[in-house]
Amino acid sequence: MTATPFWIAGQPQHGDRELIVNHPFDDGEAGRTSWADTSQVEAAVAAAASVADEFAETPAHVRSRALRHVADRLSERAEQVAQLITAESGKPIRWSRVEVTRAVSTFTWAAEEARRFGGTMQRLDTDPNAEGRTAVTRRFPYGPVLGITPFNFPVNLVAHKLAPSIAVGAPILIKPAPATPLSALLLGELLAETDLPAGAVSVVPVPNEEAPALAADERFPVISFTGSDVVGWQLADSLPRRKVTLELGGNAAALVCADFDDLDWAADRIATFGNYQAGQSCISVQRVFVHRDHYDRFLPLLVDKVAALATGDPTDDDCVVGPLISSAAAQRVTEWIDEAVNSGARLHCGGQRDGNLVSPAVLTDVPRDAKLAESEVFGPVLIVEPVADDTAGLAAINASRYGLQAGVFTTRIDLAATAHRRLKVGGVIIGDVPSFRADQMPYGGTKASGTGREGVASAMEDLTEAKVLVLPLL
Ligand code: NAD
Repeated sequence: MTATPFWIAGQPQHGDRELIVNHPFDDGEAGRTSWADTSQVEAAVAAAASVADEFAETPAHVRSRALRHVADRLSERAEQVAQLITAESGKPIRWSRVEVTRAVSTFTWAAEEARRFGGTMQRLDTDPNAEGRTAVTRRFPYGPVLGITPFNFPVNLVAHKLAPSIAVGAPILIKPAPATPLSALLLGELLAETDLPAGAVSVVPVPNEEAPALAADERFPVISFTGSDVVGWQLADSLPRRKVTLELGGNAAALVCADFDDLDWAADRIATFGNYQAGQSCISVQRVFVHRDHYDRFLPLLVDKVAALATGDPTDDDCVVGPLISSAAAQRVTEWIDEAVNSGARLHCGGQRDGNLVSPAVLTDVPRDAKLAESEVFGPVLIVEPVADDTAGLAAINASRYGLQAGVFTTRIDLAATAHRRLKVGGVIIGDVPSFRADQMPYGGTKASGTGREGVASAMEDLTEAKVLVLPLL
């Protein structure tokens, strides 16, 4: 196979060390590229640093046009991009198609926000000492951004780093996940077709062992990290005086409340979005709390729906649950299931491993200190527990070290408001699973799930700081 180039300052590059990307379903080759060597990484960082002032002053219409170009090109090549996502990540093709549509929306939204990103004007004469003065406040980029991305949304989560950076005029270097670099390299190619200043964008595969040194480079005032909590917090702790935004994992919960009577809908949504792309989404449902009045009817409905999910070859149009990213991941998930069963949990379906596939599992009576309850499983597993009432359900959701999003199946407006107030998460989804995300909404976590918010406009805030200009004007 021909090696796909990586991108430094808009130029295609190859390194000496080959990086072969395998299809997680059959282990065949999905493609290949190369790791950047030290001098190539240095060239990308130096290019980002040297273009920072120029890029911050590049007109908004130029940045907006470049973002629109990527959106248009992704739309034109949507099916090819979806196939690439599936090939390198094992994501079922139906979800890869959704991801491409979302990435188009992310770039389109950023193209619009780039035009809107303005400032504020404030009269200062409310204070006797400030008569005759006016403050103009604008936000300016901190400078070059290092974007570190995970494997599970190899196009759209790279889009969530690239698009806001370009929208505010901050150069960005993307370090993609080693398992799925090819989709990110495609975005690098599309951006190289634009007339953004050279150096504004680089996409550079770097092995994990070399990533900490890259992040420590002080020419990046901002590190925007999406990935696991262990790696993310270690990185942030090692860089105490830097701006590090963390979009990390969780063990997202859904609560089925007393008033919610469409149990079939709730079971359907939870079955699908606890297992879609094999549970490898940071807001995949993992913990399910069900009001005790519904529990006996809900559990068999859920188990039937989970057992019926189409599992297997991700290139199949009907496939809902594909493989885990690696055999190590598949083994870990089945080990966690075994650990829970050995401590008294009941397995109602699934949990069988075949290569990198794990059949979707539903468990009950899982001890709260089992890994399946406490940690992020990142696999096709749902654990279900009855709760005495809705208030106890909200407390159960909060009994986690994570706090990304929560789903509350209720139609009561007062309960929606209570959930919004009380849940220690970055987003509450009413009447649906926690797995809902629209790309323009603020998105991110509390507690161990991270700090900072993505969603194009929120990320643009995070990448910039306010600077005030005081003018001698009324
Ligand atoms: P990971 O933490 O293993 O890797 C994420 C990125 O960090 C990769 O690019 C990896 O190469 C890099 N990396 C690894 N070691 C590093 C180090 N020492 N220093 C700097 N970078 C390093 O995560 P993953 O397995 O690729 O992705 C899955 C995780 O991502 C899950 O925990 C999931 O919940 C989380 N995630 C979060 C969000 C969100 O928006 N909150 C979205 C998707 C995935």
